[in-house]
Amino acid sequence: MYNIAIIPGDGIGKEVMSSTLEVLDGLDLDLSYEYGKAGDECFKKNGVALLDETIDLVKNSDVCLFGAAGETAADVIVKLRQIMDLFVNLRPVKSYPGTDSLFKDLDFIIVRENTEGMYVGEEEYTEDGAIAKRIITKEASERICEFAFKYAKDNNKKKVTAVHKANVLKKTDGLFKKTFYEMAAEYPDIEAEDYYVDATAMYLLTRPQSFDVIVTTNLFGDILSDEGAGLVGGLGLIPSGNIGKNNALFEPVHGSAPDIAGKGLANPTAMLLSAVMMLNYLDEQKSARLLNSAIFDVLKEGKRLTPDMGGNSSTMEMAKEVKSKLLERMGS
Ligand code: ATP
Repeated sequence: MYNIAIIPGDGIGKEVMSSTLEVLDGLDLDLSYEYGKAGDECFKKNGVALLDETIDLVKNSDVCLFGAAGETAADVIVKLRQIMDLFVNLRPVKSYPGTDSLFKDLDFIIVRENTEGMYVGEEEYTEDGAIAKRIITKEASERICEFAFKYAKDNNKKKVTAVHKANVLKKTDGLFKKTFYEMAAEYPDIEAEDYYVDATAMYLLTRPQSFDVIVTTNLFGDILSDEGAGLVGGLGLIPSGNIGKNNALFEPVHGSAPDIAGKGLANPTAMLLSAVMMLNYLDEQKSARLLNSAIFDVLKEGKRLTPDMGGNSSTMEMAKEVKSKLLERMGS
């Protein structure tokens, strides 16, 4: 049995979560859910966006599924990443049928360092401006590069690309690049290469098929992940994972979308694909494959899609279609 912490959060987070749980119900797995509160609504009621009991719930679970938080997102998700030391941000870039993907054949993943770099939040004013610290440590570089190579090995990926700007940021990114190649030496079967971040931003548009696994520091990863999302269609389609040594949290990339919340208009795909990532993390590979294929079937068929994809189905109707494809596949 898996203990899963469920945090629906705000706005469409609730709708995409309930429809995803409806689909997971079709799997042949023993999943136990405990619900936690976090986000804007929680802040209004309790004066804090993230309750201690929610933190404990996540700490004591095997894994967490998170919907969305509104204005308080930074106080919730950034805090959870820090408290749980979720040092990896994982963002797959995959083309799905029937979507606005600029390319039809993409399947790579961005592994972003989640805890340091430009986002340590150490800024100070000076007489005529301000200074931000960019912290890169050997330890954090090592563990993120190790994760990327291990991910490549476990998922039959042939190559890992380190992205940096070591020609300008000689000390910080110099350390990151050096650590990357030290780790590469431990994985001789996997090709290792590195590019500058500016060149990578261009290659993502000119030849994105050449990437397998990209590993990079916090700010560069944040920017390139959104470029990746732009390559494969709208916000409603992109899942993500935050992974640490002992725990992980999976969430759609989109936020609470207050403009469409409560109307059944939200596309559940990003949340469903986040659940696929969760199943992969739990090493339930068969269930992950089945669910992924069922989502693929529904997108390809194009009969039960939400309005953002040109359809007229509701969030739950689309999810129920995924469930029925899942059950079909499980029966066959
Ligand atoms: P937040 O403040 O929580 O980040 P936001 O509206 O600023 O919310 P997002 O929720 O990320 O930012 O989304 C931006 C817009 O994209 C939404 O207003 C909505 O129109 C659209 N959108 C986002 N997610 C979905 C989805 N799952 N299905 C359909 N449309 C979506």
